Amino acid sequence: MIPFNAPPVTGSEAEYMHSAMESGKLCGDGGFTRRVQQWFEQRYHVPKVLLTPSCTASLEMAALLINIQPGDEVIMPSYTFVSTANAFVLRGAKIIFVDIRPDTMNIDETLIEAAITEKTRAIVPVHYAGVSCDMDKIMALADKYKLYVIEDAAQGVMSCWKGRALGSIGHIGCFSFHETKNYTAGGEGGATLINDPALIDRAEIIREKGTNRSQFFRGQVDKYTWRDLGSSYLMSDLQAAYLWAQLENAEVINQRRLELWQNYYDALRPLADQGRITLPTLPADCQHNAHMFYLKLRDQDDRDRLITWLKEAEILSVFHYIPLHSSPAGLQFGEFSGDDRYTTAESERLVRLPMYYNLTNNQQKIVIGSLLSFFS
Ligand SMILES: *Cc1c(COP(=O)(O)O)cnc(C)c1O
Repeated sequence: MIPFNAPPVTGSEAEYMHSAMESGKLCGDGGFTRRVQQWFEQRYHVPKVLLTPSCTASLEMAALLINIQPGDEVIMPSYTFVSTANAFVLRGAKIIFVDIRPDTMNIDETLIEAAITEKTRAIVPVHYAGVSCDMDKIMALADKYKLYVIEDAAQGVMSCWKGRALGSIGHIGCFSFHETKNYTAGGEGGATLINDPALIDRAEIIREKGTNRSQFFRGQVDKYTWRDLGSSYLMSDLQAAYLWAQLENAEVINQRRLELWQNYYDALRPLADQGRITLPTLPADCQHNAHMFYLKLRDQDDRDRLITWLKEAEILSVFHYIPLHSSPAGLQFGEFSGDDRYTTAESERLVRLPMYYNLTNNQQKIVIGSLLSFFS
């Protein structure tokens, strides 16, 4: 059977996890955590990167950090993972959903301004499939209306917009190291990128259960106390060790994923040219990370038939997301701004193919063969 996903393994994960165990310190902010944080800070020119238990936790940290209050409004696409919305709903915000662009499945930047009200506090662009939203337009709107931009870059590690790393452009960026993402911290993990230096001190306090323990460990204060709201948003150093092994091979993983992505694209291109399927679009300003390979069929029936066809060939493909605005919690906590022209219709015809670092050429040939036989 060819699974839809397998967690990436590069070879040195076990060795590094073992050395974390021998260091006598497994809790957060150990040696591997520091190495990983510095790697991102230097590479992406980010003033502060903090490893967290998940992208969900990073989004929650972001909502606390920008002081979201009951009644505030937060703008995001409806076509996203639940955590993007939940993090802000937990603080009492109302979610304002904006339609997506059919070419990238990202929030349509031309529709955001109409969704802004007196109550709007933040825009949360989600970089779907590791392909960037139009960050120039979004940052300009944020500037004009004095809003925060929290990038949900869960899928965008190693992707760029005009040469800048996704997650490093808004005031705060959130990464995921879940095992379904390009790089994993042993199954679960995340990072909060603090791009606005004014937010750094409070970010460290929120992450350390509301205490100034980080300053205490650096010798900046002689005791630590409860200062603010907070929670436990640290990643175990055992997980950071796993992640470090992946980052040492970041380019290797990225290149291999891009190669797999291109193989799918080249094989399916003739079908797209005949108008039978739609393939992903990569706008010129986006350098992607091949997080995902998806295609869109004519409609939901066709899409479901393809999933069944592949399953009979022991190949697992999946679809997502059920748009948040039409889900029970979305109806309760959110509202769609304008018309749902693309969100529902496009999500219903989308299917994701097996796409992971350790997928072999042979396995991919089997997937492509089965796809081509479905269309013939
Ligand atoms: C995976 C994902 C998340 C959640 O990441 P976790 O690390 O599992 O919490 C959030 N947003 C998007 C867009 C995702 O793809």
